[in-house]
This record gives sequence, C-alpha cells and structure tokens, in this order.
Amino acid sequence: MLDRVAIVTGGARGIGLGIAKMLFAKGHHLAIWDRDEEVLGTLSKTLNAGADRLLLQVVDVTNKAAIKEATDAITDHWSAPDILVNNAGITRDKRIINMTEEDWDIVLDVNLKSMFLCCKAVIPGMVNGNFGRIVNISSRAWLGGFGQVNYSASKGGAVSLTRTLAIELAREGITVNAVAPGIVDTPLLQNYSTEQRELLKKSVPTGRIGRVEDIARTVGFLADEENSYVTGQLIYVCGGRSLSNPSI
Ligand code: NDP
Repeated sequence: MLDRVAIVTGGARGIGLGIAKMLFAKGHHLAIWDRDEEVLGTLSKTLNAGADRLLLQVVDVTNKAAIKEATDAITDHWSAPDILVNNAGITRDKRIINMTEEDWDIVLDVNLKSMFLCCKAVIPGMVNGNFGRIVNISSRAWLGGFGQVNYSASKGGAVSLTRTLAIELAREGITVNAVAPGIVDTPLLQNYSTEQRELLKKSVPTGRIGRVEDIARTVGFLADEENSYVTGQLIYVCGGRSLSNPSI
C-alpha cells in the first residue's frame, strides 16, 4: 500500500482523533486541522509521532483563507492531499421556537459549508493526481432529531453533497462517501449524566454506545487505496439505531 497525504478536520479529539490515529497507523502522512492550538500541541505525544509524517495546523474550517493556507503548506511540505476526512462538527440543539438565526448559521457553516470549502481546496490536486478519497462525517440524526433542525439539515446536506460530488468526480479517480455515526462515546457525550447515558444506550438495538474506533474502521475502509468502486454511499455506523425510531 502506498502512503498517502491525508487531512482530518476537527482531529484534535473525539471521533476525529480516532480517525487520525487510524490513518497514521496505516502509514499515511497526516495533517490534523483543529481550532484548539493547545490540544493540537499535545498530539505528537498522543500519536507518538515525529514531524516527518505529522502536521498539526490551526485551522478554523469556516475560514476559506485559513483552509487555503493550510492546504498550500501541506502541498509544499509533502505533496497535494489525497485523502480528506471532513469530520469537524458542532451542535446547538434547541426546539425551533427557541432557535436563533445565529444557531442555524453557525451549525450550517461548521458542519456543511466547511465541507464545501475543504473539498474546493483539495479537489484540484486530487484531479491532477487522478486519485482521491473524500469521507464526510454525517450523522444518523440526518433522519431527524428532536431539537436538531439545524444539525439534521446540516447532516442531510452532507449526504446530498457527498452523492453529488461522487457523480462529478467519479471519472477522475476520486471517491466521495459519507459515514453516519449514531451515539458515540466522545467528550461530547461525557457531559451527560449516567441516567441520560443509560437511556441513550437503551435506544441502540445492539445495546451499547459506539466507540470512536467503530467509526474510524469504517472511514479506513472508505479511504483505502483499493476501495475504488464504492462511491456516493452513506454507511451507518450506529448499532442499528437508523432502523428504529428513537424518541431521544
Ligand atoms: P467533538 O466535539 O468531540 O470534536 C469535534 C472537534 O471538531 C473538536 O476538536 C472541535 O474543536 C473541532 N471543531 C469544531 N468546530 C471547528 C471548526 N470551526 N474548525 C475546526 N475544528 C472545529 O465531536 P465528536 O468527535 O463527537 O464529533 C465529530 C463528528 O462526528 C462531528 O461532525 C459530529 O457531528 C459527528 N457525530 C458525532 C456523534 C457523537 O455521538 N459523538 C454522532 C453522530 C455524528 P473545539 O474544541 O475548538 O470545538
């Protein structure tokens, strides 16, 4: 297997960090983008990595100029990125009655517009190299979730963006797929009470909360060099939760 140049957005913690660890373990050159400079600074130790295969870049994925600057730096340092995992995402859950325009805009900007901006930055290089793997992190919540009109719309948008880009780029060696996690044990979830976690667990058919490794494994499959015939697909990694109709 060739080593490739990969970017993971929002890779400083949670699912993104799990994906970063997986891609790094596969031997790829890896750029991790996140907003938090302090946490980013600890990642060389976490990944047990020297600078030769790891770039830690402070990038806000809503900032077009920062995305371009970071992409150019990767290209100068190694070569144009071959793998992009659009993982950065946030929630601002509220019923629509309380949701502000700002809540809508920020969630759509971070979760969806960022995918457009990051794809725009890397696709020309992928087209030149006639190879690319783009994996977008959607969510089971794209099916709908109480108090998540902004989040569901952003994650549904991610599915549509994935399908459309897959059609546009299929002849250029570039696959574009999406992964829809269910409930995953990340710092986000650790804020929940034991009672709330138990309730969530009960809503998962397999009876357990997902692990970041569950998501990372699926991203690894979609990002694989050999995997050139799966494109435009959404893979649920949610313990079967997409099959039921959870009320929470
Ligand atoms: P976390 O909040 O644990 O991590 C998200 C990371 O993204 C953080 O490091 C965060 O940095 C970073 N980030 C947020 N906004 C930006 C930005 N504008 N620019 C760059 N980095 C940013 O989230 P998870 O790991 O739980 O989620 C990862 C993805 O998976 C998201 O897209 C989420 O929607 C999706 N998902 C998660 C599920 C779950 O149960 N956890 C379920 C379904 C989908 P900072 O600390 O600065 O905010």
